[in-house]
Amino acid sequence: MQKKTVAFSKDSSNLFFHLLTKCNLSCCHCYINKKQHGENTLDIKTIKKWLSLFAAKANHTNVIFLGGEPSLHPDLFLAVKEARSLGFKSITIDTNGYLFHNILNKVTPDEVDFMSFSLDGATEKTNDAIRGKGSFKKCTAGIKESVSKGFSTSMIYTVSAMNFHELPMMPALIKSFGIDRFFIQVIGIRGNSAENNNDLQVTKENWLKIVPKVAEEIARQEIIVTYPKVFLKEDEKFQCAGIVADNYFIFPNGRVYRCPLCEDFPIHSLKIKNDTLVQRGRINEKDLFHLNIAEGCVMNKIIQPGTLAYKNDGTPEHKIACCMLKQEVSLK
Ligand code: SF4
Ligand code: SF4
Repeated sequence: MQKKTVAFSKDSSNLFFHLLTKCNLSCCHCYINKKQHGENTLDIKTIKKWLSLFAAKANHTNVIFLGGEPSLHPDLFLAVKEARSLGFKSITIDTNGYLFHNILNKVTPDEVDFMSFSLDGATEKTNDAIRGKGSFKKCTAGIKESVSKGFSTSMIYTVSAMNFHELPMMPALIKSFGIDRFFIQVIGIRGNSAENNNDLQVTKENWLKIVPKVAEEIARQEIIVTYPKVFLKEDEKFQCAGIVADNYFIFPNGRVYRCPLCEDFPIHSLKIKNDTLVQRGRINEKDLFHLNIAEGCVMNKIIQPGTLAYKNDGTPEHKIACCMLKQEVSLK
């Protein structure tokens, strides 16, 4: 079993491109915040222009098309083809599994590196309580269709207090699916999670007891598993991806963030104005990245302090890693 921390690098860039904020579902932990990111759907002409802003470093940039639900965009297939022709390193579609507009018949496995499906429970009951009635059946059917059509297929399971108890059931559920990668995510307190309920976070004990073990179990099925580190060990160095990595979270109202935890606030450091990428003046998220605090991630302390614990002398029990620092587990 190989376990490694996926280090940040300025030489590898990720473009998380939200084409629209519209979605057919209304998951209780959805991070999309329409008050901040509007209800605009980008037209294909604009999508092409915005992709071209990042084309100079396309060969080391991964594009992830997101929404809302990206397959609700009738021209998603054209966006994929454009990204491919511009030479981006990899192209992923993150979907809830409803696969609108017949998307799997409009793109090919050569054009899409990963079809990535979000499922948040091993049973219909738990998943549908989080993501909406009927979504378990739709998503699992979508995964099977994607695999049968030859797409490299991955799954995302967002762990929260509502579903961590079913994560250990996932290895058995996915045995027959034929997926290539499995991503475990940690619930972020933003969007709906921030507005509706602050009790969705899992405790450190539950996270450490369950997640690494399940990850290994899934990896034994020759599936690559990735999960966020969350809690740093004493000898592990804290780094902020906002400083040492090259990530862009683009929204259809033109906001471009470097840190996903900042997305509930108008503190984006970049914006796309008249189809040009421009820096914003101070104060913005970049000013926060440089604050050096004993708790590790500054934004975590601001928006989800429930992850923190302190010793009697007031020093933190652990440092919280950047949410983008990942652990990868695989057989090879
Ligand atoms: S989490 Fe994804 S599928 Fe669920 S409502 Fe939000 S955008 Fe839609
Ligand atoms: S999650 Fe924290 S550490 Fe990571 S980029 Fe944002 S502020 Fe920096």
